[in-house]
Amino acid sequence: MTYEPDETHDPKRQSWVGTANGHASFPIQNLPFGVFSPPNEDARGGVAIGEEIFDLKRLLEAGLLKGEAAEAARAASGATLNAFMALGRDARIELRRRLSDLLTAETDEGRRAGGQALRLLHKAAACTLHLPAKVGSYTDFFAGIHHATNAGTRMKREPPLLPNYKYVPVAYHGRASSVVVSGTALRRPNGQSKLSENEDPIFGPSRKLDIELELGVWIGPGNRLGEPIPIARAGEHVVGLCMLNDWSARDIQSWEFVPLGPFLAKNFGTTVSPWIVTMEALAPFRQPQPARPASDPKPLPYLWDDADQANGAFDIDIEVLIRSESMRARSLPPHRIVASNVKHLYWTLAQLVAHHTSGGCNLQPGDLFGSGTLSAPERSGWGSLWELTDDGAISIQLPTGETRTFTQDGDEVILRAHASRDGYVSIGFGDCAGTILSAMPS
Ligand code: CA
Repeated sequence: MTYEPDETHDPKRQSWVGTANGHASFPIQNLPFGVFSPPNEDARGGVAIGEEIFDLKRLLEAGLLKGEAAEAARAASGATLNAFMALGRDARIELRRRLSDLLTAETDEGRRAGGQALRLLHKAAACTLHLPAKVGSYTDFFAGIHHATNAGTRMKREPPLLPNYKYVPVAYHGRASSVVVSGTALRRPNGQSKLSENEDPIFGPSRKLDIELELGVWIGPGNRLGEPIPIARAGEHVVGLCMLNDWSARDIQSWEFVPLGPFLAKNFGTTVSPWIVTMEALAPFRQPQPARPASDPKPLPYLWDDADQANGAFDIDIEVLIRSESMRARSLPPHRIVASNVKHLYWTLAQLVAHHTSGGCNLQPGDLFGSGTLSAPERSGWGSLWELTDDGAISIQLPTGETRTFTQDGDEVILRAHASRDGYVSIGFGDCAGTILSAMPS
């Protein structure tokens, strides 16, 4: 399967939507899908364009789409995008091409759509954004090798990586019901922790509430139970990407995780950015999967595909910012604490899909994967507070003079992503933000 850039990526394309031209995240070359409610109206699908949202429901009513594109838009015009995600790549490409034409300044279609701008566009800031899909299942991988290495080092393992790491794309099945859209405030969880070897466990608010910088992967068409997806076809089952914050209560985690893995430490909330940046939009930012060191094992055949190795990785800059209550009170902007890149994935997205289904597990449209924490090799790119602060031993300085080890109540944490490449227009994902509220009285 090829992912070549086409006319929708043409850097010369300008939109009649003025705020789209030069927009850091949502120029006409991006066209990410999401679900939103205009003020006092019901939820429906839309496409982010500059500071506006292009309303797919109104677009259909206006009769500006025909044939396969109209069918795809109909599937994307409801309160969730699951039906659209189920359609697959050809329908997505057809709709993307038509939307790009309709939003381009100098085409006939663009002039017709531009004439109805008041009906078709909403100011994004006035709308409510929702989860783009009903999440059936959520699986969180551990595919960021530098994070996995840091975790092993902290546990004083030598070598730090467990023997299975370079053979198996390790994951756990997460909780779908508590996946929330950016902007949703989350309560600090109460839970059991054990402060030292000699003390009994206690129950109360987590003292080590952490974040994890992850890529979210939205699954499109599924597979039948018992019928694995071969790696060469795995790309067809991914709709697009978002940013994902796997909030993690480290004190609860370290006490509960033996022997079955994460449970309450992670099931109280997972934040995703609202827009699905499609695999089509990301075509220019693909690159070869970095070659494994000669001492690493070659993946088993069911995880190996030459085409996937040749273009299955992504160059996407990702970052974590924090904004405390006191920074908000002083109107200070969010402060960046981490800068990393998606290229630090040890496994490609196709390998994750192929492995997840290799035993027969059925994926469904709207399923969500987390990549695992995407730490860079150097400390400035470590994607969790636990890594950055050596489990609370080192403090991070904020512009107010405040310090942080783990999050405090009132902190807003924001994940961002931008992809750029010479000769192409840069695109962004939109914020993946969440604010921590104080714990419920226990
Ligand atoms: Ca995680």
